[in-house]
Amino acid sequence: MPPPHPETWLRVTPTGLHCAPGGFYVDPGRPVDRAVITHGHADHARPGHGAVLATPETLAIMAARMSEAGAGRSRQALAYGEALSVGGVRIGLRPAGHVLGSAQVVLEWQGSRAVVSGDYKRQRDPTCAPFEPVACDVFITEATFGLPVFRHPPPEGEVAKLLRSLALFPERTHVVGCYALGKCQRLIRLLREAGWDRPIHIHGAQATLCALYERLGVALGELRPATVANRAELRGAIVLAPPSALQDRWARRLADPVVASASGWMRVRQRAKSRGIELPLVISDHADWDDLLRTIDEVGAPEVWVTHGRDDALVHAMAGRGIRGRALHLVGLGEDEDEAPPAAAGGGSLAHGVGEPAVGEGE
Ligand SMILES: [Zn+2]
Ligand SMILES: [Zn+2]
Repeated sequence: MPPPHPETWLRVTPTGLHCAPGGFYVDPGRPVDRAVITHGHADHARPGHGAVLATPETLAIMAARMSEAGAGRSRQALAYGEALSVGGVRIGLRPAGHVLGSAQVVLEWQGSRAVVSGDYKRQRDPTCAPFEPVACDVFITEATFGLPVFRHPPPEGEVAKLLRSLALFPERTHVVGCYALGKCQRLIRLLREAGWDRPIHIHGAQATLCALYERLGVALGELRPATVANRAELRGAIVLAPPSALQDRWARRLADPVVASASGWMRVRQRAKSRGIELPLVISDHADWDDLLRTIDEVGAPEVWVTHGRDDALVHAMAGRGIRGRALHLVGLGEDEDEAPPAAAGGGSLAHGVGEPAVGEGE
């Protein structure tokens, strides 16, 4: 008998992707009895589940972000490369290269293998294990930046732009909007690699996860709270803050700030402009268009399902390669963290198109 098609044992439900023989969901959108969680971002790791299976790092991140109770009544850690059988379904976790602890979920049932990528990227990230392609029958991918216009340049070049601006404006505070889980720590490590050994100031909302990354072995160098530092100390300093803080009174307390933002969305110049971002840095924790296609080639699946993001262009591109593409439209994914396109002051939305791409890389 041929192996069962993954469609028969892995189904899309209003709660999320459900594995019937295993009796669990992957990244469910609301509390369930049994959940496998790909990573700690809030749209994937929701509070209130019964049993939670995830990497040790993801479990630690969930516990830090939610109350201990909210992070799952019972928690089981599964390290990369380990496997476990639940209801005859073999579950394994492999690195996704997205944030610390992020995993692809490898599911096998009766000789049929599906891989749920969660969010992922292929660019180098000194804060987490690199993505590992896994051959499978169905690859279930994200497509946050699934349009040909999205091409993420090497992050080292973007960090160099920030350092050039600091050299040019040594009196100005450089405040960089970046998300608290993943982007913030990656940016710090990239700055350290580029030779920036001065203290980096962080917003209070970044502190818990920076401390956790340190505890889990990601050295970040000297960090200081940006809130208690006086304006004089912040002259010529780098301040990292959640993107939301750039818009409020907090950022205006800084001395003549250069406002920067580290996001894949910074590729779209009008988005940066409408948010008052003077220095857009295209640094993303998601695969860009080329890396989505490269990954789909590497896993060699005859069929690819797209969980969320710009699925239409990707499904179309796959058809041209003889791959059956299917948009799952999973509800609740891509609603926050790095994935939500920053809302413009005027309320612009992706539905109106992504706007013009940045052209002629200016400083
Ligand atoms: Zn994510
Ligand atoms: Zn996500």
